[in-house]
Amino acid sequence: MSMIPADAPAPVAGPGARLPETPPRWHRSSWRERPARQQPVWPDPARACDIARSVSMLPPPVAPEAVVSLRRDLARAAAGQAVVFQAGDCAERFASCGEDAVAGKLRTLLQSAMMLALGTGLPVVKIGRIAGQFGKPRSADTEVVDGVELPVYRGDIVNGPDPVPEARRPDPERMLHAYGHTRAALRTLGGCEAGGADPGEFAWVLEEGPLYTSHEALLLDYEEALTHLDPATDRWFDTSAHMVWVGERTRALDGAHIEFVSGIANPVGVKLGPGATAEEVAELCARLDPERTPGRLVLVPRMGAQRVREALPPLVRAVRDAGHPVVWVCDPMHGNTIRSGSGYKTRRFADIAAEVEGFFAVHRAEGTHPGGVHLEMTGEDVTECLGGIRELGDDHLAERYETACDPRLNGAQAVELVFAIADLLRG
Ligand code: PEP
Ligand code: MN
Repeated sequence: MSMIPADAPAPVAGPGARLPETPPRWHRSSWRERPARQQPVWPDPARACDIARSVSMLPPPVAPEAVVSLRRDLARAAAGQAVVFQAGDCAERFASCGEDAVAGKLRTLLQSAMMLALGTGLPVVKIGRIAGQFGKPRSADTEVVDGVELPVYRGDIVNGPDPVPEARRPDPERMLHAYGHTRAALRTLGGCEAGGADPGEFAWVLEEGPLYTSHEALLLDYEEALTHLDPATDRWFDTSAHMVWVGERTRALDGAHIEFVSGIANPVGVKLGPGATAEEVAELCARLDPERTPGRLVLVPRMGAQRVREALPPLVRAVRDAGHPVVWVCDPMHGNTIRSGSGYKTRRFADIAAEVEGFFAVHRAEGTHPGGVHLEMTGEDVTECLGGIRELGDDHLAERYETACDPRLNGAQAVELVFAIADLLRG
């Protein structure tokens, strides 16, 4: 069974199928004329350039037809006829791209999507933070470990997490490894020439649509290398994933990341923190969705439970009044990160649930569609987030704290949250 139809039929007319023009003067390398935040300093830039060129000559991981199919599904979500479920690890590790690990993640995602579908009666657009979520933005360039200042870990596509100088040195070869691991994960997901995990009892959720892939378009050398002109549509597709997003730290209007995604035909997400202004968001929409095409733009507020009810309404109104048919997707994780008493980076389940509630309340009040959710979660029984039905406490965090970056909901916490979300969507 193929979950990502590489051989899907050519796009037909309908919302989401129309692809806007490529902006004049845009090229896949035009981002290089703008300030690019959160990029590694490669020790040997010429070598990084050679490796990026090698990546650009490899076959595209994802087919433009499947990207257009996601646009069509997202256009339905923008109109309130479908719900988006985007979830996965904060940071994927190369070592977790093996068949068993990816098949396990697939089952977890499909199980949650199935509960959402059963709970709401709506088709669920399933998007994994999977098969390419290898680059991480960080709040500082260096950190001090045991008195030694080291470059921070920027994700497996850049360097390694071990707190020693050799591991932390940015290594451009990792771009080739990222490509290989993306291909391996896609193969397990069913997108490539053979194989494909058996989705078992969840097969029916795939009949409504495949599991699409997504990641933060952070490392622009790599995203550029996988961006190709599709002769069938005469548009540029970032073939590293079906959907990519720009993070809260890199969404500057005049920055390299917004320039890059402005010209690709993929659906594009933008994270919005509590500091985002209505003017800024209106300008982002004008830049990224000038033709007001449903299925193009996904706005992902991550405000924090305390802020969402006051910070989100002005943004929702600005976008609605400007007529952009965006999908609003709630990320209740990144505005609720705290440091626990024992020193772990964690999140409280109650805060996560409260942000989701606030998000739905705002949309209900404004008459707009709450399009879905974006979660960091795993099916494993990890102990990374506090609370939930089993009341995980600070003293439990050390038991199984396994994330390479941000704390994820564990299997039980994810089920509990998805039930609450289904209730809100019905409500
Ligand atoms: C993330 O999604 O892991 C992330 C870093 O998010 P944000 O850009 O919203 O902080
Ligand atoms: Mn994260």
